Amino acid sequence: MKLKDIQNTFHKALDSFYEKEEIDSFFFMLIDSFYNVSRLKLAMEPDFKIENQNIIIDALNRLKQEEPIQYILGETEFYGLQFKVNNHVLIPRPETEELVEWVISELRDQKSEFRILDIGTGSGCIAIALAKNIPNAKVYALDISKEALKIAKQNAELNAVEVKFVKADILNVSCDEYVSALQKFDIIVSNPPYVREQEKQLMKDNVLSNEPHLALFVKDENPLLFYNTISDFARTTLNDKGMLFFEINEYLGNSMIQLLKEKRFKNIELKLDIFKKDRMIKGEIANE
Ligand code: GLN
Repeated sequence: MKLKDIQNTFHKALDSFYEKEEIDSFFFMLIDSFYNVSRLKLAMEPDFKIENQNIIIDALNRLKQEEPIQYILGETEFYGLQFKVNNHVLIPRPETEELVEWVISELRDQKSEFRILDIGTGSGCIAIALAKNIPNAKVYALDISKEALKIAKQNAELNAVEVKFVKADILNVSCDEYVSALQKFDIIVSNPPYVREQEKQLMKDNVLSNEPHLALFVKDENPLLFYNTISDFARTTLNDKGMLFFEINEYLGNSMIQLLKEKRFKNIELKLDIFKKDRMIKGEIANE
């Protein structure tokens, strides 16, 4: 079948769901990934035919169900690196790239080897981007989901970095066990679930019906559950001068400052993302 005809089929089937440019961009991403045909090649050879059209028609049907293109392609880009994704992991977000950028900028002058732990790693995007960009870091990452860890491990391999992955539920681990098994850390970073059930109505359908709720939602009554537990964990498992970094819910910036103060973190800094929303926070352990 001619690719051009398939492109027309895409427009007919998807025009009521997406903008024209978006449909073209999906189509070109898919033919590049499935058939290794670039936009330019198709422009130069408009009659280009493919044999196995089932995979692209299947992708079209998934787009019609509003499945995110990243899951259909099975990959996405984060911090200039390729990551495999499936519906067991969140699609890495641009705001999380900003968190990674912040951690890296705080560590640029570090000379000696130091240890980083990423809690709730999902696709592994934070841990792997840090390992790739901070050569003297020893990186650990944990997640409750065995399926997520499977993807994260593939991503570490794909990006040729060493990350030690651990399957654990942060809400049910004993710090002492961790300290003795993995030793202490210099940096703990986390993008835990933080969307309140009450915010569901603000979210896009394609996020709600495709991305893992385990990675997204917390109960309205206890939205800082993970932050509470992780901050306590960090107080015991961080070295002196160690730093804790979080991605946070944009509506809970002040509560997060409060929480880190209560837990006696120092040099607390709240940061906005590019959309000017409270999105990241950092605290340090300092000898009292
Ligand atoms: N930023 C993500 C979203 O808006 C949520 C990530 C999270 O809960 N950690 O969908």
